[in-house]
Amino acid sequence: LALRQVVTPVPAETGRTLLIGAGWETAAETMTVRNPFTGDVLGEAACAGVEHAERAVASAVLGAELMRDLSTGARSRILHAAAAALEADAARFAAAITAETGKPVRSATREVARAVNTLRLSAEEAVRLAGETIAFDSFPGGETRSGHYVHEPLGVIVAITPFNDPLNLICHKVGPALAVGNAVVLKPAEQAPLVAVMLAKLLLAAGLPEGALNLLTGRGCDFGDALTGHEDVAMVSFTGGAGVGQAICRSAGMKRVAMELGGNGPVIVMDDADIDTAAQACASGAFGAAGQNCIGVQRIYVHESVHDAFRDAMVAATNALTVGDPTDPATDIGPMIDLQQAERILTWTREAVAQGATLLTGGERVGALVRPTLLADVPEAAKVSCEEAFGPVVSLFRFSDVDEAIDAANRAEYAIHAAIFTGSLRHARHAARRLRVAGVMINDSTDYRLDAMPFGGAGRGNMGREGVRFAVREMSQTKVVCFHDA
Ligand code: NAD
Repeated sequence: LALRQVVTPVPAETGRTLLIGAGWETAAETMTVRNPFTGDVLGEAACAGVEHAERAVASAVLGAELMRDLSTGARSRILHAAAAALEADAARFAAAITAETGKPVRSATREVARAVNTLRLSAEEAVRLAGETIAFDSFPGGETRSGHYVHEPLGVIVAITPFNDPLNLICHKVGPALAVGNAVVLKPAEQAPLVAVMLAKLLLAAGLPEGALNLLTGRGCDFGDALTGHEDVAMVSFTGGAGVGQAICRSAGMKRVAMELGGNGPVIVMDDADIDTAAQACASGAFGAAGQNCIGVQRIYVHESVHDAFRDAMVAATNALTVGDPTDPATDIGPMIDLQQAERILTWTREAVAQGATLLTGGERVGALVRPTLLADVPEAAKVSCEEAFGPVVSLFRFSDVDEAIDAANRAEYAIHAAIFTGSLRHARHAARRLRVAGVMINDSTDYRLDAMPFGGAGRGNMGREGVRFAVREMSQTKVVCFHDA
């Protein structure tokens, strides 16, 4: 776990990280952005305030007018150009994600490839978003009428994103919003503002009109309400934790709101599962991104007849993961985003052990690097089981009847994906029907997402769906045009 000094690949930002209209500006206060693995300073980011939020929205109102006037073809070409530019610059973006968040460079490279795909899907949706004609003459009184409906932009969309996929989660909001013809005010995570700045520069260079994209770095608590509560904002699209989501809903009031919140991914391993495949997939799905993944595996329910075999395979698969320097292509698990989060995971682990859990492996840290941690015999009331861990700790439980496992899986407050490993189609279909989640993975861990598929949550507070085609619908409204042969 030795720390190795790395050279920062992020262009040192001088604090001019606010994009309002055509120009980059800074603010009276700035914050230092550090590499969570080395502690190196990567640059300065401006801390926006209420005044910046108001100007950014005013700029986006003008930007929305320009976007509305662009043809769908022009919007599509800008997004295609941005995707191509990102693809050409993939190595630099991946290195920047690694430096800012500690995500291992192999995973960061995958994230950039996904972001390219997300922008490309958005470019395709821009020209695919079409209405239909309506059969007005199907009902008496409509014979002299004809017409159609179209999907129109909403106007200004505020996009607020978390730190864990600092590029692709921005593309999932900005891509569809621009595809429809909206303007955006983006507020990226305070831990990873520089990757957002790099993406904004790339989108401007691809030909976005002035004001179509505005970027406010800084702390959400300083200017979040001024942004989300602004009456000229048509929609707030948020990805992050449930607590912040609730505060945003209160401030947003009567606006369209999309909420992509946390998860507590359950996996069921049946007695007829391929145990080695399940253990490999669960270890990778639990500990990738140091567990900081809303669809990561957190709870594993194992049939009692294969429990011990699965436990041993899971310990072996976990211990085989390489933990350490995120710039090394051989590294599987890098640091958590900061020391407080790493210490929180150790505290939760110690609490679970004090409540009767058995520590199978892990439970230690060096700086923000936490060894992948596996617990068995965990009481259901332990935080590692019933709250979103968002860190590298996983709990094993045993069951004897599949419905018992499904009921336990369904008891979590947060639900995005669930998974089942089984050789039986009957069990797979039964679980797919009964699991109260937004996605069920069969013979894979919860940690699978294709950027074209519908994606969201099923638990309390989750609203709307992402996945480009689906986000495009959420970020538009239909308008009917009706002709009367008078
Ligand atoms: P967070 O909720 O702390 O922060 C998310 C964003 O909200 C940040 O940009 C933050 O600055 C901003 N923010 C904070 N207070 C605000 C306010 N009052 N007004 C406006 N904005 C405000 O989340 P995080 O720690 O960055 O990310 C972790 C969380 O995100 C986890 O709960 C995880 O499950 C969730 N997440 C969900 C998905 C999904 O697609 N469902 C994906 C990734 C992460």
